[in-house]
Amino acid sequence: MAYEVLARKWRPQQFADVVGQNHVTQTLQNAITANRIAHAYLFVGPRGTGKTSLARLFAKALNCKTGPTITPCDVCDSCREITSGTSLDVQEIDGASNNSVEQVRELRDNVKFAPTHGKYKIYIIDEVHMLSTAAFNALLKTLEEPPAHVKFFFATTEAHKVLPTIVSRCQRFDLRRIPVALIIERLNLIANEEKVSLDSDAALAIARGAEGGLRDAESALDQLIAFRGETITETDVLAVFGLVSRQTLELLATAILKGDVGEIVRTIAELDAGGKDMQRLVLELLDHFRTLLVYLCVPEAAPTLDVIAPQVESLKQQAQLADPDRLMRIAEVLSQAEDRMRYSLSRRTLVETSLIRCARATTVSVDDLMKRLEVLSQSVGGGEIVSSPAIARVDSVRETPPPAYAPRAQAPAPRATVSPVPKPSPVLAPAKSELDALTAQWRDQIVERVKREVALAGVALLDAKPLLVEQNRVVIGFDPQFARKLEQIKIPTYHAAVHKIMVQFLKRPVNVECVLMTGEESADVPADHTVDKGAGSAPHSKTRQEWHQEPVVRKTLEFFNGSIVDIRE
Ligand SMILES: [Zn+2]
Repeated sequence: MAYEVLARKWRPQQFADVVGQNHVTQTLQNAITANRIAHAYLFVGPRGTGKTSLARLFAKALNCKTGPTITPCDVCDSCREITSGTSLDVQEIDGASNNSVEQVRELRDNVKFAPTHGKYKIYIIDEVHMLSTAAFNALLKTLEEPPAHVKFFFATTEAHKVLPTIVSRCQRFDLRRIPVALIIERLNLIANEEKVSLDSDAALAIARGAEGGLRDAESALDQLIAFRGETITETDVLAVFGLVSRQTLELLATAILKGDVGEIVRTIAELDAGGKDMQRLVLELLDHFRTLLVYLCVPEAAPTLDVIAPQVESLKQQAQLADPDRLMRIAEVLSQAEDRMRYSLSRRTLVETSLIRCARATTVSVDDLMKRLEVLSQSVGGGEIVSSPAIARVDSVRETPPPAYAPRAQAPAPRATVSPVPKPSPVLAPAKSELDALTAQWRDQIVERVKREVALAGVALLDAKPLLVEQNRVVIGFDPQFARKLEQIKIPTYHAAVHKIMVQFLKRPVNVECVLMTGEESADVPADHTVDKGAGSAPHSKTRQEWHQEPVVRKTLEFFNGSIVDIRE
C-alpha cells in the first residue's frame, strides 16, 4: 500500500474521533438527530484545527446510505468516495487557487442537477475569504436561493474577511486551538499505532511547536519519523523546530526570578550558539510567566491551565519566588522585547538585556519602602526626609543611571499623555466622607471583594485609589506608572466586577470611571504613610541631573540601587 502521510491517515472519520472541538461536533450531531440541517455552514478557526476535516466528516454523515446519521457507516459507496476524495456529490474548492472563479461559476450552473449517489450535493469551499469578488458574487446568487439538495460548507482562518452577506446566511462554528494535553494524547496514540517510541518531553515539544494545530503536530511527527526512525527524543524535536527544551525554559525562568544574571547570560549564550529562535524563546517565556501569574492569582483555575504534570511541579516551585506585581513587570518587559524584536539588529543582545532587566525588576511595597527610607534618613544625618514627591518615587527597577549626555538626562518628559482628572465639584461635603470611607477600606474591602469576583481585576486595583465620589459616579485613579492596569480594568468583565462592588459598597447606582492620575495626585503617598511635609520643600523645575546631585537623592538611589524614571513636582 502506498505511503500515506499521518495527518491524512489519521483524519477523523467519525465525530467521536475529532479532537478538542466537542462544542462543534455536539451541535452538528444534534442537528443531524433533530433533522435540522442548515443550508450553509461556516467553520472558522486557526490553521490545522480540523475545519475541512470536520466539513468532510459532516458531508459523509449527511450523504451516507444510512444517513443523515451521526455515525456514517464508512463502507457504503458514498462514504468510501467521500473518504477517498472522489465523490461527485461532494466537491471541494480551494478559495485561494486561481481557478476558483471558474469553479464557482461551474458550481452555479451545476447546482440545479440532483446528486448522483447521496442525498445532497455538497460544496466545501476552503479559505473562502480568499475568493475574488467575482467568485463571491457568483456564489452569493446561489447562496440566496439554494435548491433543497444543496449544502455549502465554508472554512476560513479569517472570518472578518468573509463578506457579511455570506456570513449572515451561514451557521457559524468557531474551532479552537487544541490544548497541548489533547495534542499529546493524540500523538501518543499515533506513535503507539505506528510503533514509534516517543518520550513525554518529545511529545510536549511537538505540541508546543504546533501551537494548537493538530495537523501541524501530525506533520511534524511524520517528518521526525522520516528523520529519526523509530525512536524520537526531545532533542530531535527541538532541533527540527528551533525550540528550547522545557527544562531550559524552566531553568531560565527560575534564574530570572532568582535574579541570577550569570545563569541568564550563560544560558542565552548557549541557546544562541545552538541556533535557537530568540523570538520564539521570548514568546514562550511570556507564556510561561502568564501561566505562573494565573497559577499564583487564581489557584482554583490551575486545573484549566494547559500544562502537563512536570510543568505543574515547576510552577509550584516558582510560585514561591514570585509575586503578581513582579510577574506583571516581567511580562511587560518581555512584551516590549517582543515588539522590538523585528527591528533589532542583534536579537541575542535584546533578549539578553531584556532578561537581565526582568531579573532585576523587583517590586517593593510602600510599607517596606518607608521602612527602608527611615533607615536611610538616619544614615543621612538623623534629620527628617525631605518630602518632595520627586524622591518618594524612585523606581525600583535597578538600572544604571543614564550618563549625563543621554537625552533622557534632560528635563522630565512632558505630561501630555496623562489624561486630566475631572475636578471635584464644589459641593462635596457628604461625598467627601464617602471618599474617606472608600479610601480607608480600599485594600481590605474593595480590592478583596473585587478579587472574589474577578481575581485579576482585584490585582489591578491594588495600584489604584479612589479620587472622587459623587452622587452618581465614582472616579478611580491609576498611577501613570501602572497605565497597563488601567487598560486591564477596562476589560468588560473586569469593569463589571468593580462596578458591582462599588454599587454594593455605596448602596446606590453609580457610574465607575477609571482614569490616569496626574503627577500631583499620584505623588500623594497614602495617608498612613505620609512623611513630614514641613521640612524644606525642594525648589521646583530641577532637571534629572540636578536631582542626581542632591545628596539625599544620591544616597537614596545608591541605597536602592535605583534610578530616577520620572520627576513629578
Ligand atoms: Zn456510509
